Amino acid sequence: MASIGFIGLGNMGGPMAVNLLKAGHTVTGFDLSQAAMSQFASQGGLLARTACGAAAGADILITMLPAGKHVLNLYLGDDNTQGILELVGPECLLIDSSTIEADVARTVAAKAASLGLDFIDAPVSGGTAGAAAGTLTFICGGSDQAFARAEAVLANMGGNIFHAGGAGAGQVAKICNNMLLSVLMIATSESLAMGIDNGLDPKVLSDIMKVSSGGNWTLDKYNPCPGVMPQVPSSNHYQGGFMVDLMVKDLGLAMATALASGSSTPMGALARNVYVSHAREGHGSLDFSSIFEHFGPRSK
Ligand code: NAD
Repeated sequence: MASIGFIGLGNMGGPMAVNLLKAGHTVTGFDLSQAAMSQFASQGGLLARTACGAAAGADILITMLPAGKHVLNLYLGDDNTQGILELVGPECLLIDSSTIEADVARTVAAKAASLGLDFIDAPVSGGTAGAAAGTLTFICGGSDQAFARAEAVLANMGGNIFHAGGAGAGQVAKICNNMLLSVLMIATSESLAMGIDNGLDPKVLSDIMKVSSGGNWTLDKYNPCPGVMPQVPSSNHYQGGFMVDLMVKDLGLAMATALASGSSTPMGALARNVYVSHAREGHGSLDFSSIFEHFGPRSK
């Protein structure tokens, strides 16, 4: 069993770290949020007082942070703080599961390699339910050696573990997936809303579409219409889950990626605009399935 440092104990990182505890590892967590720290401690996790404290002495360090700037700052440091790359032991395996710019992942991987450290980008898919159930999909980028070292510990938190390619490849694959997810969520929401506008029961309509040619992940696992599916954010006032602000971030990453590669992504561009409007209307901290309310029943 390994000694693992885990930085970023939020909606995703918290349950992922708990699954490492359940697998028998010693896990020392750190988060800027006291509430996240207390939640982790209540489930048996050890706490560090700083990010450096979680990194020091770890065999494996895992980070699950909001965005690239947090990852860059933490690993490389800035004028005032030392990066954790300078603090970890020579054998420490570094795994970043945040969804961030592929270029940031490559920058951190290159700096890690210059210090003789293995680093992989390992963003995830599967949402908070997948994080809690230990069934996440990990989409990894990095050297064969780093990936081989990471597979066993990732298996404690996920079911499907892919090696997409070299450094940054995990992030590119993840962004392709999330661009598709955003389009599916919007299209599912507008279809359900049109059905309701025309007198259909959204549960019946969902059951029909699930086994018809419109079937997709949002209908199977994450229905956006309140009351259709228990235990998803739409049935809990769109609390928890995957925040609109994070989807806006991911669609920004997708657009930057498309611009750099000259790819045509008209649906992704439209989805970004729809989500940006939704965030600007004050819904940034709700789950991304709240886009349903953008189209939702007229009586609201
Ligand atoms: P979150 O906001 O719930 O959690 C992020 C945590 O990081 C917060 O608790 C925050 O306090 C902490 N944090 C920020 N800066 C920190 C620092 N310097 N040191 C320590 N802690 C710090 O977000 P989340 O939903 O857990 O998402 C995390 C990442 O996973 C994001 O990149 C997101 O895009 C990605 N992701 C989320 C989901 C989802 O369904 N929520 C699914 C797949 C991927």
